[in-house]
Amino acid sequence: MIIVIKPNTPPEGIEKVVAEVARLGYEPRPIYGTEQTVVAAIGDETTHGDLERLTVLPQVQEVLRVQKRYKLVSRQFKPDDTIIDIDGVKIGGPHFAVMAGPCSVESEEQLLTTARAVKAAGATILRGGAYKPRTSPYEFQGLGKEGLRLLQLARKETGLKIVTEVLSERDVEHVAESSDILQIGARNAQNFQLLIEAARSGKPILLKRGLSQRLEEWFLSAEYVLSNGNPNVMLCERGIRTFETFTRNTLDLSAVAVAKMETHLPVVVDPSQGSGKASLVSALCRGAVAMDSDGLIIEVHPNPAEAMSDGQQQVDFTSFAQLMGTLPPFLNLTGKKLETFKA
Ligand code: PEP
Ligand code: MN
Repeated sequence: MIIVIKPNTPPEGIEKVVAEVARLGYEPRPIYGTEQTVVAAIGDETTHGDLERLTVLPQVQEVLRVQKRYKLVSRQFKPDDTIIDIDGVKIGGPHFAVMAGPCSVESEEQLLTTARAVKAAGATILRGGAYKPRTSPYEFQGLGKEGLRLLQLARKETGLKIVTEVLSERDVEHVAESSDILQIGARNAQNFQLLIEAARSGKPILLKRGLSQRLEEWFLSAEYVLSNGNPNVMLCERGIRTFETFTRNTLDLSAVAVAKMETHLPVVVDPSQGSGKASLVSALCRGAVAMDSDGLIIEVHPNPAEAMSDGQQQVDFTSFAQLMGTLPPFLNLTGKKLETFKA
């Protein structure tokens, strides 16, 4: 941290700040300038006193942070891309993975037909919500445990890996038992107790970005998982709240570039929640691939018009297969390879 001293502070005032930095357990290094004097404080902030409180001293202009607040997720800490291996399906580094399936698990037939269709088109991971975070309590809340049972059935038949949302701490254990990746939804992106509990399950985590979450906050949410002993986090950009209402959310592709630069974690893009419109999904997928993301999570439904949630943004099987067909040239540009099950 750097403590900036107010201009024209007499030497004894500077000495007071230096003494205070030392008292908090840091090594103070004053740097005297003609215009401005600063004091660098050397030491580990996690074990020493809080330097930000020095702003209350009359001699101090401001306290500046030099290091990032997130450490374990940062590229500074680990320069190489993290590659997550989900029981043979890899994501990160050169490995690109597509997760696809319905917004909600609705029935055995709906899920199994979708699982077969998305696998045939090149997905390796099946998505589907059993526990749904709905804005209104009167909307379909998901099939719960029955939904998890159907996801396991689909995994058994197709070999697809399963990603599904866990809404609450009390569900972590049984959702983890029935799935391969735990999805933490946008509305829970800063539910820190849930993040800790999900981290402790040992399962890879797909961490959606909160509806209005700043990038630093998103990376700090991921830091909760890593600092609780689970290195397998995928960041998922799913659009944020902006003034624009044409789309349900504004898909923030610049967040992909920032996340790839600042962290070593795989970055997945969700164009379905990101736009709220089936007609935009294909173009946003290509944009996401070109931005060097590591994967996509796409909502696919046998009959979107009859979906029990998010019908307007789900694509049908034909559109999904078509959009998958448009990705290879974009993947070639980034040097990534789509992970598929060889037929
Ligand atoms: C979903 O994936 O269906 C979902 C509810 O996502 P989000 O948490 O990003 O809104
Ligand atoms: Mn949805």
